[in-house]
Amino acid sequence: MSLYIILMGVQGAGKGEQARFIQETYGIPQVSTGDLFRAMKTRTDPLAQRIQQIMAEGKLIDDDTTNAVVEDRLGQEDAKNGVILDGYPRTPAQAAWLDQYLEKHGAHVNAVLLLELDLYTAFKRSFGRVKSDDTGKTHNIYFNDEEIAEWKFVDHPQNEFPPRLQAVDANGNVLSRRPDDASAHAILKRIDTFRETTAPLITYYEQKRPGLLVRINADQSIEAVASAIKEAVDARK
Ligand code: AMP
Repeated sequence: MSLYIILMGVQGAGKGEQARFIQETYGIPQVSTGDLFRAMKTRTDPLAQRIQQIMAEGKLIDDDTTNAVVEDRLGQEDAKNGVILDGYPRTPAQAAWLDQYLEKHGAHVNAVLLLELDLYTAFKRSFGRVKSDDTGKTHNIYFNDEEIAEWKFVDHPQNEFPPRLQAVDANGNVLSRRPDDASAHAILKRIDTFRETTAPLITYYEQKRPGLLVRINADQSIEAVASAIKEAVDARK
């Protein structure tokens, strides 16, 4: 028996954490097309170079190329009992290709899990996220995190936007932001892009089969989200 799960959610919805949970619970690997494309960075063949160029421009890779990369990954030994798809499909054409590919192999998409989060919370989860390089722990200035001893915004020396965020944990370890979380504009752009690309996919899967798409409230503890996911997947195995 195989298990194909599609995981969708805006940045900050906790997709990475939940993908790990699904992987451990059901023993299927996570397949992220973004990771697969990034892994081609060191390759110098024409296909890899074309992909690097498109990614650098922040655009989507064309459907045929993306589907070919996914086909290659799904054919590998560790993926024979199914996978968790992350970042794929991104277009209805990719979704349709996946359906016909799985059908040919006697399988189907079991569940499309949409981790729902209001967009202001999604914004705060990214913009307020800080991490200690010493402990590896992640914190957030917006969510009453008692392990953050102090945080403040300080003006950039040349008054550029956004201001810098300075934070330390209770042991004096410096907490810093990921560079891509520091730009409010870039976060909003990613959220907008997510909304635009996901809307047609939601329609696609809702029309495909009732109950295939499951909306999960991502504004809960990691454990509560994981348990909602388990319930949804167990009912669709
Ligand atoms: P991600 O890490 O999922 O945000 O993906 C990083 C980049 O890889 C995207 O900006 C696209 O250029 C490319 N990419 C990832 N997944 C897909 C996909 N399903 N279709 C087209 N392009 C993709």
